[in-house]
Amino acid sequence: MSAADIGLIGLAVMGQNLVLNMAEHGFHVCVYNRSEQKTNDFIENRTQGFPVSAAYSLQELVDSLAAPRKIMLMVKAGEVVDSFIEQLVPLLDEGDIIIDGGNSLYIDSNRRTKELAEKGILFIGTGVSGGEEGARFGPSIMPGGNKQAWESVKPIFQSIAAKSGEEACCDWVGDDGAGHYVKMVHNGIEYGDMQLITEAYQLMREGLGMSADECQKVFSAWNEGVLDSYLIEITAEILTFKDTDGEPLVDKILDAAGQKGTGKWTGISSLELGIPVTLITESVYARCLSALKTERVQASKIYPRTAVAKIYSEDEKQAIIASIHDALYASKIISYAQGYMLMAEAAKAYDWNLNYGGIALMWRGGCIIRSRFLEEIKHAYEKEPGLANLLQASFFESAIKGAESHWRKAVVFGIEQQIPTPALSSALAFFDGYRSEVVPANLLQAQRDYFGAHTYERLDAPRGEFFHTDWIQSG
Ligand code: NAP
Repeated sequence: MSAADIGLIGLAVMGQNLVLNMAEHGFHVCVYNRSEQKTNDFIENRTQGFPVSAAYSLQELVDSLAAPRKIMLMVKAGEVVDSFIEQLVPLLDEGDIIIDGGNSLYIDSNRRTKELAEKGILFIGTGVSGGEEGARFGPSIMPGGNKQAWESVKPIFQSIAAKSGEEACCDWVGDDGAGHYVKMVHNGIEYGDMQLITEAYQLMREGLGMSADECQKVFSAWNEGVLDSYLIEITAEILTFKDTDGEPLVDKILDAAGQKGTGKWTGISSLELGIPVTLITESVYARCLSALKTERVQASKIYPRTAVAKIYSEDEKQAIIASIHDALYASKIISYAQGYMLMAEAAKAYDWNLNYGGIALMWRGGCIIRSRFLEEIKHAYEKEPGLANLLQASFFESAIKGAESHWRKAVVFGIEQQIPTPALSSALAFFDGYRSEVVPANLLQAQRDYFGAHTYERLDAPRGEFFHTDWIQSG
């Protein structure tokens, strides 16, 4: 076989499927995995007819590649990535490219880009989204790092990426860890979207006493409208799935959510940068609270739900469902607006030139948060590249104004029914804060000045001029 176009290390779920996707698009891939058995199984069982070859040492892998060499890592994020980089560097030539396609922390990608550039090696840290199926048939790919590497990698990445119309859901994101940062925010938004859907589900299931089948019909209908998205679609499918006894499988699943860290990283970054990404952070906390199953069971005995189950007429029920729909839609807009606020602040902090419309396009297909709605975000940034906030784009202004009263009703319904809606209600609280000319931070500043002499600015003095008051008045 001729020299391989690209090498891929890591033959777990993502790696195997990316290799087959690349090979199907005509690229010769040489693969390597720490455990040889996995390499052998993959070559024997999945690569028949594809231009895929195997290497059993990193030297063999490096020797098999055309120059400049491109080696993609699809291994466990963290130390394993550093360890492979360390082993590869002495084997590579100047101008060769190492690509990390795992869910690495952007801070690590910032560091790796710099360290490798000093050694003449080009680094790309790229987000890959879409899970197993996306990897196989078209993921969303968000590459960042050393831009000199992009032209060599672009034909492969844009061929294998999902397409939105004619356009590939993959483009250059920015320097250093920008690709992994955008992927992190993508995952954070995914946490938010999932939480919002589960809250809508619980309002219907517990608040309205609807069956899983009834909820499924509602989600299927929603998927035909503005909420059209992969996550709404799979939610409807999940709700139809029956266990062996004919009962919905969802009812048999333990209500304790797991997480792998990208939502948490988004929350941490939002706190570090001082951007109120409340919905994603609440979604991470909702998973944390769900994990306290034993304690929740105990607390439910101490504080049993006292909300009176009401019988609703069909008209009342449909009106509440419509409110829940609008609450979900408006909250989703808030979540994306917050995610974009965070990316804009990170771009300032790290000196990245992010293309916000392009990011919406990359998320439009292939990834877990793909939705019709992202088309509107792309349009908003195309129409107004310097847009201060998505909530100030005319499309989203009308959408929020159209949904607002229903949104409030849905949140009130949750409060009355004692059903937690941390994402729906925190989105509303954010909105009410964002649209308020005056918030009570004047009193807060006074408190800070009272106990800590932290000083305050006055409305009737220029910004930047600070005052202190001796608050303890004698007599
Ligand atoms: P994974 O379970 O995260 O990692 C397994 C791979 O890492 C295997 O090839 C394994 O080799 C290798 N590995 C683990 N520890 C190692 C060590 N100490 N030394 C050498 N190799 C080691 O695989 P994955 O789920 O396919 O994900 C790959 C990357 O993509 C991860 O960063 C993941 O977060 C990211 N990602 C995953 C998904 C998804 O849906 N799964 C989606 C997007 C992104 P052995 O076979 O020898 O154990």
